[in-house]
Amino acid sequence: MPGKSGIQSGGSQGVGVEGELSIPYRHAAGRHAERFSREMRDNRRIMGVRCSRCEAVLLPPRPYCGFCFEPATEWVEVADEGELVTFTSVQGDPDAAVFEEPRIRALIMLDGAGVHFPHVLGEVAPDDVSEGMRVKAVWSEDRNGTLSDIKYFRPI
Ligand SMILES: [Zn+2]
Repeated sequence: MPGKSGIQSGGSQGVGVEGELSIPYRHAAGRHAERFSREMRDNRRIMGVRCSRCEAVLLPPRPYCGFCFEPATEWVEVADEGELVTFTSVQGDPDAAVFEEPRIRALIMLDGAGVHFPHVLGEVAPDDVSEGMRVKAVWSEDRNGTLSDIKYFRPI
């Protein structure tokens, strides 16, 4: 993305040059994120970790529990289906582009998980969506280890 820049009058502080840089970066995802990504990409599996204290199964997996701050070391496969907790219909993106069709953002409690999983719904009209409905992942054939390896969740 190109940056933007310009000379700004600073009044009594003189003229300033302001700009914005776009800086490409790459960093190690870490052990937990790496396994999570590989399992989705290679095996169509959603893996979480279980907290050693409160036993919550955390998604995405992380070294420590966000509820009680204890280590989360046991890997657990969660289902690629679950219950729709809540949702909203989105008409456009943050850059103000308007979608041709509304998109349904959702929080899903996957079977076996202890935290909500954010994703989108498909194959359903916004008026036909209801909290508590069962939904299942529709996996992409072209997976790269990101959340978009799941195209969307559809009602079951
Ligand atoms: Zn915990």
